[in-house]
This record gives sequence, C-alpha cells and structure tokens, in this order.
Amino acid sequence: MIPFLSLKDVTALREDLIQEAVHRVVSSGWYLQGKENERFESDYAAYIGTSYAVGCANGLDALIWIFRAYIEMGVMAPGDEVIVPANTFIATILAITENGLTPVLVEPRADTLEMDDSLIEGKIGPKTKAICIVHLYGRNAYSEKIGQLCQKYSLKLIEDNAQAHGCRTADGRRTGSLGDAAGHSFYPGKNLGALGDGGAVTTNDRELAETVRSLANYGSSKKYVFRYCGRNSRLDEIQAAVLDVKLKYLDSDNDSRRKIAAVYYGNISNPSVQMPALLPDSQNVYHLFPILCERRDELADYLKDRGVSCLIHYPVPPHRQECYPGLAGLSLPVTEYIAEHELSLPIGPVITVQEALEVCSIINSFR
Ligand SMILES: *Cc1c(COP(=O)(O)O)cnc(C)c1O
Repeated sequence: MIPFLSLKDVTALREDLIQEAVHRVVSSGWYLQGKENERFESDYAAYIGTSYAVGCANGLDALIWIFRAYIEMGVMAPGDEVIVPANTFIATILAITENGLTPVLVEPRADTLEMDDSLIEGKIGPKTKAICIVHLYGRNAYSEKIGQLCQKYSLKLIEDNAQAHGCRTADGRRTGSLGDAAGHSFYPGKNLGALGDGGAVTTNDRELAETVRSLANYGSSKKYVFRYCGRNSRLDEIQAAVLDVKLKYLDSDNDSRRKIAAVYYGNISNPSVQMPALLPDSQNVYHLFPILCERRDELADYLKDRGVSCLIHYPVPPHRQECYPGLAGLSLPVTEYIAEHELSLPIGPVITVQEALEVCSIINSFR
C-alpha cells in the first residue's frame, strides 16, 4: 500500500521533538497568546522574509482577515473586485466573498495550472482593488508581469500561500513576502502542518499586521477595548510550539518532496498522461504532484486496485459549487478541464524513492 500522505508517519519523523514541545506547553499552564506564539511568529516572519507574521486560527481566516483589515483601513470597500485564479481551493474565494468583495475569476494556463497572467489586464476595471495570486500545488504563481500590473493600477497584491511554504520566485524571494500581505495555512496536510488547525498572515505593513491581530482577537488590541467587531481566531500555544519545531525541518522536507517529484518527472512515460511544466526546484515545493489524464477516473481506479492512493484537486471548481449560484453561468473551460482530468499522485516527506518508482511503473503500464 502506498498512501497519499500518512500524517502519522510525517509526525513520527520528529516525534521526540514534537512531544517535547507539546509537553513544555502542557506543563507551563499558559495556552494562548504567550511565548510560543511570539517565538513562532518571529521565526516564521524571518523565514518568509517579512517584518511581521501574525498567527491565527486557520488559513481561511488568515485570508479573511487580510481583506477585512483592508476594509477597516479604508483601502477596500464591499462591492470592490478582487482578481483571483478560477483554479483554486474554494477557501481563496470564500475569503473574498465573506467580506462582500467580488471575485473576478481568471483562467489558468493549461501547462502551468497557475493563473494566466496574460489574461489579467483585461479583467482590471474601476472597481478592481487587488490581485490575489495562489501558489497552487506548491508552484510559484508570481511573475514580474503581475508585479508590474499591481504597480500600474495601484492594486494590492495578496498571496494565498497555503500550499507553498518555502517556495521561491525566480529572483529568490520567498512566496509570502512578494506582495502586500499573504495568508498561510498550517492544516496538518500542508507542507508546514500543525497537529490541528492553524494559520498566519505575513506582511511588511505594520498597520495591517496590527489590524489583523486585533480582528483575530475579538477586535481588540487592548484588553476590554474593542475597536472592531472581531472574532476569536487565534493560534494556540501548542500548535505554535509544534510549528516552530517543524519549521526547522521545512526546507529538508521540501527537498524530500523534490526528490520524489524528480522520480515522477524522470520516469512517468505514458502518452495518455501529461505532467505540468517543470519549474526550477527553488520555485516548486511540490505540495501536490498533479498530473492530467483524459481517462482520469479509470487511471485512479487502476492505481487504487494496485494499492496506490491518489486524490483529485479539485473535482468541482468554485464557480460550479452550489454556494455560488451567481458564478454558475461562467464558462471557464481550462479550469473545468483541470477539474475533470487532474489526479494528484502521492508525495510528501515520507514516501520513498522506491515507492515513487512503483507508482511510475503502474502508471506506465496503464493502457
Ligand atoms: C488549505 C488551503 C486554504 C485554507 O486553509 P485552512 O487552514 O484549511 O483553512 C486556503 N487556500 C488554499 C489554496 C489552500 O490549499
């Protein structure tokens, strides 16, 4: 059996250090807003390359707080538009609509699976306030062209870095430090995963960081003084302590993922299977390894019958979800093609090269 990703094995890689961190918090008697959050936020900001990192409850909240903070700061208002890839996990879109903002969906390129930057300028109008890029599958989605468009039209650049901790751009900067603010998820299955939910916002903007921190703390930065109607959306001390341990191994875990990806790129050879364009190693942390196959469901069954678990990211795109009847009329053929043909192969810091080779030979024998 080759599991898609065994979280038990991922945790076991650093079991002793994680147990020690959890125990330290348990016996400290201090479970929220303490030293563990302070240390992790400072280490994570340094890692990403921003002045601030603010922990919060999960990745969806991180993105929600960024847009909400811009609304509180008077930078955006409900009804404004945000340009965003159509091919993404629904949380990216939820964060926009949760704030009364309008998502303007842009098709991906069929070869990179990331937002097609040549289509963005045509979508910019008087209500456009931001471009939200998503480094989907762990692939760098930033381009100089996107940076230039933000400059030219005075748009905020917001990154959804939920799948790309540790990824870099062509010029060596880390994703999460490229624009005005970035949302990060520490969902257990992410490249940097907690033992439960967790998230963070990174930014160089002090006002934004402080606003996000207040919003995630009932709307308060001073005890019993409430400037905003916020929520309780904090990162707890146990998760912060665990994340600080795992952060030290993130680069080496990402290198393990790259070794598996190299096996797939080097050995998968089946005319009915396409792999996305190969990026330089620094620009892909391989959160997922997506392939495209015309007979995707048959291939998934074929792999499953031979003990290999695969997943689909994502079977129904946001514009075709019941929660967005207003988007249902959109025609987004590339996004729809990906939803119908994508299959994610097992990848992570625990799968072995031998197992990846087995996956390749099963795929190559699929007729
Ligand atoms: C996981 C994910 C999120 C949401 O993060 P949670 O911590 O699960 O709330 C947002 N965007 C993308 C692209 C994700 O993959």
